[in-house]
This record gives sequence, structure tokens and C-alpha cells, in this order.
Amino acid sequence: MKPCKLQNPNARKIVCQVWRHLRKNFPNDARILTIIVQGIKPFNKQEPTYGKTGRWNTIYLKYLDEARAWLEKVGGHGRWPGIIKLQDNDGLTIGAVAHEFGHAFTSDDEIKSRCAPTYDWANEVAADMHAMRWGLLTCKDIQRRNINNTGSRRSKFHYDLPPGAECVIYGQPYRLTKDFIFERIETKNQHSEGIMNEKQASIARGMLTPQEAGARCGISGEQLMAIFRRKQITGYRFGYHTVRFKPSDVDAYIEKMRM
Ligand SMILES: [Zn+2]
Repeated sequence: MKPCKLQNPNARKIVCQVWRHLRKNFPNDARILTIIVQGIKPFNKQEPTYGKTGRWNTIYLKYLDEARAWLEKVGGHGRWPGIIKLQDNDGLTIGAVAHEFGHAFTSDDEIKSRCAPTYDWANEVAADMHAMRWGLLTCKDIQRRNINNTGSRRSKFHYDLPPGAECVIYGQPYRLTKDFIFERIETKNQHSEGIMNEKQASIARGMLTPQEAGARCGISGEQLMAIFRRKQITGYRFGYHTVRFKPSDVDAYIEKMRM
């Protein structure tokens, strides 16, 4: 690998193992990584690490032409040159090193397509995605990260969400899919449908659910419910969460929209 300035023999060994694995099993990714990773350095003493194992420091390209030439070299996709910084001690693990290589390999597009609630979440999850794809990080490693991350200067933020797991971020529950994409979990009072009794069901027969009525106007059920709450369309409430629409009322609403 490019200049590895780590001193600790164990740390050097771990980096070597990761690099050898990549070169052998993912030669194409390794080729791109040799262009992106300009070096591997230890955190210096002044650098507060906040319980971090490593950090990916991108190098700023001053000129647009320089940046363009660079992007061409790595095949576009918005990857940037930089230096992997690591703690130079026995505590370094293969998963943690692979995660930092994952940061190096992550493109702007990959960050965007995570649909994450914040940039940091997108960034961390994308790094995990590559490390797991390379077979160097497991779900267990990600969960364990939270527990191990308890140095004297414990990190304030933890990005320890393995694929398939759920997590509350800024008060909103999310699920991370197997493809490392964030999905908002709909909470009960947003969506759950109440159950109608027999009488109500017979009255509601032939009526449309918000989804069906929305589809008739070319909008989502949620959008239609917003219109209903603004009292711009007639609907029938059979319970707090149960609203139905007569097809004729939906058609009347569409007619009202005519310019
Ligand atoms: Zn990270």
C-alpha cells in the first residue's frame, strides 16, 4: 500500500491484511483505491480523536481543471483524493480499517442515494456498505462499535446501524434496508387503518380508500388526505383513522380543479 506511516506493528499488520484482501478479491476497487488513497498516517497527539478509530481526510484540489482531471482519472463518480488517518495502536481492527477504506471509496452519488436523514448518516452508512461488500465488516462488528467506542473522550455521535436494523434519528424512526437505504417507518397515528364494524362496512361499500381516491386524481393517498383535512373534498369518517370517499365526490373534486 501507499506510504503507511503507522508505527505499531499490529496496526501495520491489520492495514496490510485489508489491503492484500482487496488486491486479491477486488482488484478493480484496489486499482481505484491506489489512485484515491495518497497515504496512511497515524492520528497525531494534538489531534483530538473523540473515540474515533480512524478518519478519512480528503485533499482539497485548488483548481477546477485539476479537479476535472482527477475525476477523469478515477472514472468520475465524485471520489476525491485523501489520506486515511488511523489510531496507531493494538486496538485497530480489520472492520475499522475497512470502514475507512470504505470512506475513501465512497462517491458523492452513493452518499446521495442513501436517502439518509443527515449527510453524516449517509456518509457512515456508505462506508459500512463498501466494507461489508468487501467481506471485511459484519453486522455484529457495527453493533459492537457502539460498545467499544467508550474511550475517555467518548464520541458524541454513533453511527452504528447495521442493515436491517431500526433506529430513531431526530425523533423519527428509520429502517436501514439490506441495500443500505434509509426508509422512514410510518408511525401508527400517521397511517394505521381502523377496523370498521359490519354496519359501517356496508355503508362504505363501493367507496374508495384515500389511496384509491388519490389514484383516481393522480396523487398519493397522503396528499388526498391533506386535501380532505383542508375540507376541499367531501369524505366520510368511520373512525379517527378511517376515511372513505364516494367516487362521485372524487369526480366532483376533479371537476372543481378544472381551469
Ligand atoms: Zn466513518
